[in-house]
Amino acid sequence: MVKIKNFINGELVAPESNEYIDNYDPSTGTVYSLIPDSDERDVNFAVEAAKKAFRTWSVTPAPHRSKILLKISELIEKNLEALAKAETIDNGKPLWLAKSVDIPRASENFRFYGTGILHFASESHAMEDSALNYTLRTPIGVAGCISPWNLPLYLFTWKIVPAIAVGNTVVAKPSEITPMTAFLLAEICIEAGLPPGVLNIVHGYGHKVGSAITAHPDIPIISFTGGTKTGETIAKTTAPMFKKLSLELGGKNPNIVFADCDLYKAVRTSVRASFTNQGEICLCGSRIFIEKNIYEIFKEKFLKETEKMIVGDPFDDKNKLGAIVSKQHYDKILQYIHLAKEEGGMILKGGKSIHPEGRCSNGWFIEPAIIENLPFDCRTNQEEIFGPVVTLTPFETEEEVLLYANSTKYGLAALLFTENLNKAHRVAAKLQSGIVWVNCWLLRDLRTPFGGVKRSGMGREGGFEAFKFFTEEKNICIKF
Ligand code: NAD
Repeated sequence: MVKIKNFINGELVAPESNEYIDNYDPSTGTVYSLIPDSDERDVNFAVEAAKKAFRTWSVTPAPHRSKILLKISELIEKNLEALAKAETIDNGKPLWLAKSVDIPRASENFRFYGTGILHFASESHAMEDSALNYTLRTPIGVAGCISPWNLPLYLFTWKIVPAIAVGNTVVAKPSEITPMTAFLLAEICIEAGLPPGVLNIVHGYGHKVGSAITAHPDIPIISFTGGTKTGETIAKTTAPMFKKLSLELGGKNPNIVFADCDLYKAVRTSVRASFTNQGEICLCGSRIFIEKNIYEIFKEKFLKETEKMIVGDPFDDKNKLGAIVSKQHYDKILQYIHLAKEEGGMILKGGKSIHPEGRCSNGWFIEPAIIENLPFDCRTNQEEIFGPVVTLTPFETEEEVLLYANSTKYGLAALLFTENLNKAHRVAAKLQSGIVWVNCWLLRDLRTPFGGVKRSGMGREGGFEAFKFFTEEKNICIKF
């Protein structure tokens, strides 16, 4: 059985404890590899290596850093098949999805920031003929990066690459539920010639490794993506230490369908936005609000389109949904479907666990669930489920739907469908959300600011925002 290793100071090493955690293939429900059960000692080694590497990496010219990042990007592309297979086994997502989205995007993250760093410049502000200000942006030191399980390599690289690109060194922790592709990335980094200590990966539990990273006095900056509760814990630890903090947290995203939409487009896009990756994307639209006079027709078409969302073996390309990532998460989703019924919800379709024939019969699969007849403020409509579960709710006025849409504690993403340009602008401006997609979903330009408001997070990732976060500014004012 494969034993995953930590990546510290350029070497693949066993954890100090010599203890391992079982790593499950969710499509079969069996253990297939072992994850280092690391602790504070491993984090301390990683921080020492990162501090040492920072002395040279932080003054390595940007074109040189860029070259290495582009080399890693190339190697990810070259290993696309193997990485996608590993991601599918580890996470349960369909192989076609890992091949077309997760791994290409991980490669793109390296290319995007690896070239972006060549264009990132200091600003200057001239005060007529009396003085000149220029603002230096310098790397901060050792950055702590912690990522979740839903888009494992995609989100892991989305953090570590901008951090490294601007000259920081990193101590990173992937989710203990999906550690495999971060392990494989370590091998790629060695092959690409990334200097030892620039990227260190410590595997293990959040309460051991994650908390050791966030509390470490020599890590002045933390970038975290995960659940809102964990974000709270991290904020409590880091606030009195005055660490720079970026939090990308949970969501309960509204999807608003106006009667004047292109119905065909709205239905197809909404189904994709509801169930892609088993609904385990923080940007999925899980509360669909439909203008009353098209409610029935939308519902009929939405139910029909969802029939195409076949669930089963993630290695079979005909399946659109794979397995739920873990037994714990599978149980949580089923509990929420049960709660929806208790709250008076009517299950229009799906919501049951599935046991496909053959090798996946003991895996964790759930049919996409479509629920109606729930008030906007019930728990099912307020709490993040993070699975293939959506609710349908009719509305009559813009005012009413804005009240529904903005009623949760979250504010990550929102979708809206209308062919009326004025309405699109008006409603988009009033949605409490970091991201609004009009007549589309998950259309991503990596230069745009990415992040949420309210309990969905703090700060923005993407483009130069990420470079700004991972650097410290110093203004120098010269009087003539
Ligand atoms: P999680 O918060 O349980 O775990 C995320 C990471 O934090 C893991 O690596 C985990 O080991 C670590 N961790 C756990 N406890 C910790 C602690 N006390 N200190 C430090 N680190 C700790 O989240 P998850 O279940 O892995 O991911 C699902 C959540 O992530 C959902 O809420 C989803 O919405 C959110 N998410 C948000 C975004 C975004 O961009 N906003 C993207 C993807 C996922």
